[in-house]
Amino acid sequence: MRAATIHARLDTCPRCGAAIIVALDHHTAALTVRADPLPLDAETELHARLSGRLTYNVLGRDDLQLHLRDTEHMASRGHPVVATHECPGPIPATAIPSAPVPAANPAEPDLFTHIDDDVPDGFPF
Ligand SMILES: [Zn+2]
Repeated sequence: MRAATIHARLDTCPRCGAAIIVALDHHTAALTVRADPLPLDAETELHARLSGRLTYNVLGRDDLQLHLRDTEHMASRGHPVVATHECPGPIPATAIPSAPVPAANPAEPDLFTHIDDDVPDGFPF
Protein backbone atom coordinates (compact mmCIF):
# COMPACT_ATOMS: atom_id res chain seq x y z
CA MET A 1 0.00 0.00 0.00
CA ARG A 2 1.45 3.34 -1.06
CA ALA A 3 1.55 6.34 1.24
CA ALA A 4 -1.37 8.71 0.94
CA THR A 5 -0.95 12.14 -0.61
CA ILE A 6 -3.25 15.14 -0.93
CA HIS A 7 -4.16 13.79 -4.39
CA ALA A 8 -6.87 11.18 -4.03
CA ARG A 9 -6.39 7.81 -5.67
CA LEU A 10 -8.26 4.54 -5.84
CA ASP A 11 -6.96 1.62 -3.81
CA THR A 12 -8.30 -1.48 -2.14
CA CYS A 13 -9.04 -1.98 1.53
CA PRO A 14 -6.46 -4.44 2.89
CA ARG A 15 -9.07 -5.89 5.22
CA CYS A 16 -12.17 -6.44 3.06
CA GLY A 17 -10.84 -5.91 -0.49
CA ALA A 18 -13.34 -3.18 -1.33
CA ALA A 19 -12.50 -0.26 -3.57
CA ILE A 20 -11.64 2.82 -1.52
CA ILE A 21 -10.45 6.36 -2.07
CA VAL A 22 -7.19 7.15 -0.26
CA ALA A 23 -6.01 10.71 0.34
CA LEU A 24 -4.75 13.10 2.96
CA ASP A 25 -7.46 15.39 4.28
CA HIS A 26 -5.37 18.57 4.33
CA HIS A 27 -2.05 20.01 3.15
CA THR A 28 -0.67 20.34 6.68
CA ALA A 29 -1.11 18.20 9.78
CA ALA A 30 -3.14 15.86 7.64
CA LEU A 31 -4.69 12.54 8.42
CA THR A 32 -5.01 9.69 5.95
CA VAL A 33 -8.59 9.24 4.79
CA ARG A 34 -9.97 5.98 3.44
CA ALA A 35 -13.39 6.65 1.95
CA ASP A 36 -15.98 4.62 0.09
CA PRO A 37 -16.21 5.77 -3.56
CA LEU A 38 -19.96 6.13 -3.33
CA PRO A 39 -21.54 9.62 -3.52
CA LEU A 40 -23.97 10.34 -0.71
CA ASP A 41 -27.13 12.39 -0.80
CA ALA A 42 -28.29 14.38 2.25
CA GLU A 43 -30.14 11.42 3.78
CA THR A 44 -27.33 8.88 3.38
CA GLU A 45 -24.81 11.46 4.61
CA LEU A 46 -26.89 11.98 7.74
CA HIS A 47 -27.00 8.21 8.25
CA ALA A 48 -23.22 8.02 7.85
CA ARG A 49 -22.66 10.87 10.33
CA LEU A 50 -25.00 9.34 12.87
CA SER A 51 -23.08 6.06 12.63
CA GLY A 52 -19.86 7.90 13.49
CA ARG A 53 -18.36 8.19 10.02
CA LEU A 54 -16.83 11.47 8.82
CA THR A 55 -17.85 12.88 5.45
CA TYR A 56 -15.79 14.70 2.83
CA ASN A 57 -16.32 16.91 -0.19
CA VAL A 58 -14.63 15.55 -3.31
CA LEU A 59 -13.04 18.61 -4.91
CA GLY A 60 -11.43 18.95 -8.33
CA ARG A 61 -11.89 17.26 -11.68
CA ASP A 62 -8.71 15.48 -12.74
CA ASP A 63 -6.82 16.01 -9.49
CA LEU A 64 -9.30 15.02 -6.81
CA GLN A 65 -8.93 15.97 -3.16
CA LEU A 66 -10.98 15.14 -0.09
CA HIS A 67 -11.93 17.99 2.25
CA LEU A 68 -13.60 17.33 5.56
CA ARG A 69 -17.20 18.51 5.77
CA ASP A 70 -17.36 20.31 9.08
CA THR A 71 -20.19 22.45 10.39
CA GLU A 72 -19.21 25.32 8.08
CA HIS A 73 -19.54 23.13 4.99
CA MET A 74 -22.48 20.92 5.91
CA ALA A 75 -25.12 23.12 4.28
CA SER A 76 -23.39 23.17 0.90
CA ARG A 77 -23.82 20.29 -1.54
CA GLY A 78 -21.89 21.74 -4.47
CA HIS A 79 -19.51 18.78 -4.63
CA PRO A 80 -19.88 15.02 -4.40
CA VAL A 81 -19.85 13.85 -0.80
CA VAL A 82 -18.29 10.59 0.39
CA ALA A 83 -17.91 9.00 3.83
CA THR A 84 -15.05 7.21 5.52
CA HIS A 85 -14.79 3.57 4.54
CA GLU A 86 -16.58 0.98 6.59
CA CYS A 87 -15.85 -2.72 6.04
CA PRO A 88 -17.24 -4.35 4.02
CA GLY A 89 -17.31 -1.58 1.47
CA PRO A 90 -20.22 -1.00 -0.88
CA ILE A 91 -18.14 -1.46 -4.02
CA PRO A 92 -15.88 -4.49 -4.49
CA ALA A 93 -12.53 -3.63 -6.04
CA THR A 94 -13.37 -5.83 -9.03
CA ALA A 95 -16.31 -3.56 -9.92
CA ILE A 96 -14.02 -0.72 -10.94
CA PRO A 97 -12.45 -1.21 -14.35
CA SER A 98 -8.70 -1.11 -14.48
CA ALA A 99 -6.83 1.52 -16.47
CA PRO A 100 -7.40 1.20 -20.21
CA VAL A 101 -4.78 -0.67 -22.17
CA PRO A 102 -3.06 1.63 -24.67
CA ALA A 103 -4.08 1.01 -28.25
CA ALA A 104 -1.63 -0.86 -30.40
CA ASN A 105 0.59 1.24 -32.59
CA PRO A 106 -0.70 0.81 -36.16
CA ALA A 107 2.85 1.13 -37.46
CA GLU A 108 3.86 -2.03 -35.62
CA PRO A 109 2.98 -5.34 -37.26
CA ASP A 110 0.18 -7.27 -35.59
CA LEU A 111 0.69 -11.02 -35.40
CA PHE A 112 -2.98 -11.68 -36.10
CA THR A 113 -3.66 -9.14 -38.84
CA HIS A 114 -2.95 -11.62 -41.62
CA ILE A 115 -5.40 -14.15 -40.12
CA ASP A 116 -8.30 -11.68 -40.18
CA ASP A 117 -7.49 -10.76 -43.78
CA ASP A 118 -7.72 -14.41 -44.86
CA VAL A 119 -11.06 -15.17 -43.18
CA PRO A 120 -13.95 -15.03 -45.67
CA ASP A 121 -17.12 -13.14 -44.77
CA GLY A 122 -19.67 -15.32 -43.00
CA PHE A 123 -17.03 -17.61 -41.54
CA PRO A 124 -18.68 -19.11 -38.43
CA PHE A 125 -15.66 -18.90 -36.12
ZN1 LIG B 1 -12.65 -2.56 4.24
